Amino acid sequence: MDDRDLALYPFISEASAYVGSLGFSLDRLITSRALDLARIRGKERVIQSLSGEINKPPLTGSEEGPLLIELLSYPFARILISCVDDPFLTRRYSLAEAVAAYTLLKTRDTDFLSNLGNDFGVVANPSDSHFDINFTDYIKLASSMKDLKWKLVNRKLDHGNVRIKKEEFARLLQEAVRARIQDSLPIEVPEEICELCAPHLDEIKVILDERKTEYGAGDFEAVESDLFPPCIAHAIANTMAGVNLAHSMRFAMTSFLLTVGMTVDEIINMFNISPDFDVEKTRYQIEHISGSSGTTYKPPSCDTMKTYGNCYGEDELCKRIRHPLNYYRRKLWFKSKDEEKVQDEGKSVDKGEVAASEQK
Ligand code: SF4
Repeated sequence: MDDRDLALYPFISEASAYVGSLGFSLDRLITSRALDLARIRGKERVIQSLSGEINKPPLTGSEEGPLLIELLSYPFARILISCVDDPFLTRRYSLAEAVAAYTLLKTRDTDFLSNLGNDFGVVANPSDSHFDINFTDYIKLASSMKDLKWKLVNRKLDHGNVRIKKEEFARLLQEAVRARIQDSLPIEVPEEICELCAPHLDEIKVILDERKTEYGAGDFEAVESDLFPPCIAHAIANTMAGVNLAHSMRFAMTSFLLTVGMTVDEIINMFNISPDFDVEKTRYQIEHISGSSGTTYKPPSCDTMKTYGNCYGEDELCKRIRHPLNYYRRKLWFKSKDEEKVQDEGKSVDKGEVAASEQK
């Protein structure tokens, strides 16, 4: 493998041995100014993985700098993943690294793929356009594939080997890469190193929370209604004023409020403003949305809200999010940062007052 290969496939044994031989301490990897770009790229790897795709740089030149940045960004990304230590992030990251590798592997020749396979202990003999892979390796790598074509019964077995096309072998290697990365995370990172990474981790955690929301995992604490997005605040104001909401907006508001942690009774009370209010019917509808029938409904995205004419009062923050829940998450985050700042300023004022009184 040449230097470019080590940078593009940093999960192989040779790449990690090379990084080890450079003698960078963990501390230096995190703090050295010379490695700023490697850290930026490492964080970018993690953030891109949350969008599903890690873009590999072209690395066409022969200068050592870009290759080293790309190579060292990988251990930094692993440190960040380990500090966050969230199974969802670890899975997403491992898969995204593996998919990025597969995109490159599809274009490589059989000798390269065979060498890479050896690194994973996979016995596969290449010929012009196919591989004969030992059936036990085949089963191990193909077991997680959903498509029926990967089932062993749908493959021809010859003297203990399964014949597969070059691209199929690359796809199996993707699975080997994913498993290697996922199984090796988290690594042990001292607390003080994670603290030094805090600015990077904050940004990753915000995006991670947003992605989890989009995948249906809500984990809010206290409900802060003053931070609700304009569309939901408007719907609540209308409800309180006795205006009848369109069914789609009623659904959007109810599912939003349930996801951020309001109880069924709290929402019923919100709707309970008119004399002919039917509490049982409303309870049934809210409980249905909350999952009593076995299906938990997620609040709709901004695109869906716009399609149904339910996006109201879009503001600056709306331009940076794709889901009303993410508007709320970001507002919560901004608020917590403001509170931290006020506390820090309070501490400095306290210290100043103490110093002034000591001088008296
Ligand atoms: S952009 Fe999204 S969050 Fe903002 S008002 Fe429209 S639907 Fe609500």
